[in-house]
Amino acid sequence: MSNQSFLADVNEMFDVAATRCDLPEGLAEKIKVCNATYVTRFGVRLRGRMHTFTGWRAVHSTHSRPAKGGIRFAPDADQDEVEALAALMTYKCALVRLPFGGSKGALKIDPADWNETELEKITRRFAQELMAHEFLSSATNVPAPDMGTGELNMMWIADEYRRARPQDINALGCVTGKPVGGGGIEGRTEATGRGVQYAIREFFRHPADRARAGFQSETLAGLACVVQGLGNVGFHAAKFLSQEDGVRIVTVIERTGVVRNPDGLDIDALKAHLVQTGSVEGFAGGAVSLPDMGALGDECDILIPAAAEGAITAENAAAIKAALIVEAANGPTTKAADTILRQAGKIILPDLFANAGGVVVSYFEWVKNLSHIPFGLMERRLEEDEHRLLARSLEQMTGRDFPSEHAGFLEARSEIALVRSGLDDIMRAAYRRMSALWNRPDGAYPDLRTAAYVLAIDEVAQAYKAIGL
Ligand code: GLU
Repeated sequence: MSNQSFLADVNEMFDVAATRCDLPEGLAEKIKVCNATYVTRFGVRLRGRMHTFTGWRAVHSTHSRPAKGGIRFAPDADQDEVEALAALMTYKCALVRLPFGGSKGALKIDPADWNETELEKITRRFAQELMAHEFLSSATNVPAPDMGTGELNMMWIADEYRRARPQDINALGCVTGKPVGGGGIEGRTEATGRGVQYAIREFFRHPADRARAGFQSETLAGLACVVQGLGNVGFHAAKFLSQEDGVRIVTVIERTGVVRNPDGLDIDALKAHLVQTGSVEGFAGGAVSLPDMGALGDECDILIPAAAEGAITAENAAAIKAALIVEAANGPTTKAADTILRQAGKIILPDLFANAGGVVVSYFEWVKNLSHIPFGLMERRLEEDEHRLLARSLEQMTGRDFPSEHAGFLEARSEIALVRSGLDDIMRAAYRRMSALWNRPDGAYPDLRTAAYVLAIDEVAQAYKAIGL
């Protein structure tokens, strides 16, 4: 059991929850299976010869459309992984109530092997393949960044689509995670890490929940945290938690080594070093040692796996000392490890919830693209008028002068502020739904993962029931 595939693990977690859902015969199986997976093998002429690449786009569910999910560039990508990740997208979107089905794509490639011009050619070619088979459009299937991809790749995909479908007024909404100047939205790059921060803050606002992990106080200041992976997600989570909440990042586990500082690492400095040199070696702000996943067992309060799936396994789970594990990555805990951690009394904020921030802000970006109105403009006008009315009535009441324009107010309605507060609302509401199930006196939902899956399955089932299936 301990070595079963990622997809088998996700399906087993689904099965545990599905037995707790009241579903018509056969519906659980329909929700669980992946609808379709498209495999493409395409050639690109590079460096004077033809190179063949293999890519996938799995559509797990279209109970709500478009189907949504990132595209990963990784040398070890395979169909099992893509289908597992697509399933997680369905459940994640359902849990936080976004009107999306679940999808995921991958290209079997090591981005480090190619320069930017070559990656552009490869990405555009992949986009053409997806488009030709209806796996790309704002109405059907909307990719986003994932491991090994970022806003540049998304921009190339959007541009390829826009050239091919000039009549599509919603062309820009065919992909999210675009640069802000290219139809993207502020706060998308930081979104998953920001969501991790909001998830942790909300957990700590629930006295009974945090007490289960042995935390008496709501404040995060001074808590010690181990972060695995300083990519986009791990970096932003570690940055915000340390700079805004006073959390000490005592250990960062990277592919090139482990960095420790009991007083807390300077995350900006470490990231800058990593980007500049490609490695954590030689970093002066902490003790650097050889790569070692054993560091997951370092002394700390919170462990944040923020790299690939399968980081916490049956082999290393028992050594974990953190009371709280926050799954910033997709599928970082194998099913076998999950059992060991729960038996040891550890609390896990599951991936479906903890890393939903990325797709939540993708949703804002998609809505912005489809509405063709700068995000927040409507609200800003309305409330400015309201503000003038309010200022006048306050003047009448008090006889004092109130300015009609209020700088603080306008700033609070900027795009980034709207994105962050919208994300916070969605994360907090989702947590409260999970917590309510988890805390039921009958103990029917023994952990937050089961609660998250049950809520997600029920949400998808509602969509099927609504269309009479
Ligand atoms: N790749 C991210 C995830 O795994 C974001 C997906 C999206 O924004 O569509 O959730």
